[in-house]
Amino acid sequence: QPVTTDMVTLTREIEKFAKDKKLEIETLKVRENYRKEFMGNVSHELKTPLFTVQGYIHTLLDGAMEDKNIRKKYLQRAAKGVERLTYIVKDLDMISKLEAGELNLEYEKFDIVELIQGVFDLLEMRAAKKNITLTFDMKYKPIDVWADKERIQQVVMNLVMNSIKYGKDDGTTEVSVENLIKNKVIVRITDNGEGIEKQHIPRLFERFYRVDKSGNRKEGGSGLGLSIVKHIIEAHHEKIYVESVHGVGSEFSFTLEKSK
Ligand code: ADP
Repeated sequence: QPVTTDMVTLTREIEKFAKDKKLEIETLKVRENYRKEFMGNVSHELKTPLFTVQGYIHTLLDGAMEDKNIRKKYLQRAAKGVERLTYIVKDLDMISKLEAGELNLEYEKFDIVELIQGVFDLLEMRAAKKNITLTFDMKYKPIDVWADKERIQQVVMNLVMNSIKYGKDDGTTEVSVENLIKNKVIVRITDNGEGIEKQHIPRLFERFYRVDKSGNRKEGGSGLGLSIVKHIIEAHHEKIYVESVHGVGSEFSFTLEKSK
């Protein structure tokens, strides 16, 4: 082969190598930014409850301990802050496992109607505080599905919990299960709460995304609930939908595979 052709080939190879390297560096940069943003969000989420707990403990140590009533109140608030921290750390642990693909699903056959009623039992007290009624819109009839029961319980739990958190006093949360196409069912969680403005809907499932970003939100979550829900549903190769009208209410729904 003539020398010139070799030079051409060599130049091309060098160019290709440089291009690949550049791409690799770009990918690493994106990943690094992602990691930085994630860490920033994590410390931000932890800071608020940590400072709250610290504040109450210091006030107690500085003398508030002497007053029996104040002592109890502040200890209760500190305990609440610790409880919130525990939830956030649990959610963070779950999301990092889900994002790393480390969460193996354990499929089994179970009755989704019974699972929903179990979640209602767990959240009844919480709903009662706002006088919210939890209803299941059909007669009890077992509907067996094929999925990871524990994870699906978490999905239903997060969605019903949100409907209570963002629901109006004296409101209603309704859950239903319907047959979809041949081997699928759809579970809907509908509330008549505050609803979500249109512009927020596409970003709802992003981690740490919250409509109300102010620190004085009445209902503090980690902003991770819906992203966990989405990950779990997608790991099952199922779909999740949301429809919401601001001031009217929201409906979150997801599909599941029926058990044979
Ligand atoms: P959070 O911990 O803030 O509840 P989520 O990921 O569960 O985080 O939800 C993200 C945001 O979506 C919430 O902060 C809230 O603004 C909005 N949202 C979720 N569910 C509902 C609902 N049923 N009604 C109104 N807004 C909701």
